[in-house]
Amino acid sequence: MAMTLDDRIAQFRQMTIDDPENELAYFRLGQLLMEADQHGEAIGAFRKTLMIAPQFSKVFQLLAECELKQDRRDDAVRTLLEGYRTADARGDRVPRDAMGEMLKSLGEAIPESPKKERKGTGGGFSCKRPMCYYGDDAVGLTTPPLPDEIGQRIVAEICMDCWNEWLKDMSIKVINELRLDLSLEAHQQEYDKQLRRFLGFEETPAGD
Ligand SMILES: [Zn+2]
Repeated sequence: MAMTLDDRIAQFRQMTIDDPENELAYFRLGQLLMEADQHGEAIGAFRKTLMIAPQFSKVFQLLAECELKQDRRDDAVRTLLEGYRTADARGDRVPRDAMGEMLKSLGEAIPESPKKERKGTGGGFSCKRPMCYYGDDAVGLTTPPLPDEIGQRIVAEICMDCWNEWLKDMSIKVINELRLDLSLEAHQQEYDKQLRRFLGFEETPAGD
């Protein structure tokens, strides 16, 4: 049976309660609230997303759209300026250009690009991880970093920097914070779940 929009909103709201650090749950909740014309509530969900993940540039665009729907023009301009700079710094061209268009339509100037040198070598690989710093200008991995099918997906969709961030930083935090013992099957499954979430592979709940 198909879920109604209200059901899906309730489902994602529950996800944000169960897992308050999950930025993608807040992001999807915000999108669904927008779809339901609940722009005031969507603003709250997007602000929370940005508190957890301040580099998630697409969120600024949606937040500004909601603020405009609420006739909060000055807030929207502030959001767009900050969002434009964030997207520009990260090389997120699609949200950056969309926010540039929104600023223009509001009669505002588009911020100057600092034209900084990228840290990456500009490998031209497009990383699908929503939080990727390099976006469309990333460097890909040369071989799958894991033996099973997730390794194939990672090499196709995830850049070297994101993978290294997981390997050298996040995976260690996950193991320590969740006290995982990877010799246990259940703990290995939790580790895989955290990995998928980090990479943005987490599936939406069943019925979506
Ligand atoms: Zn990446």
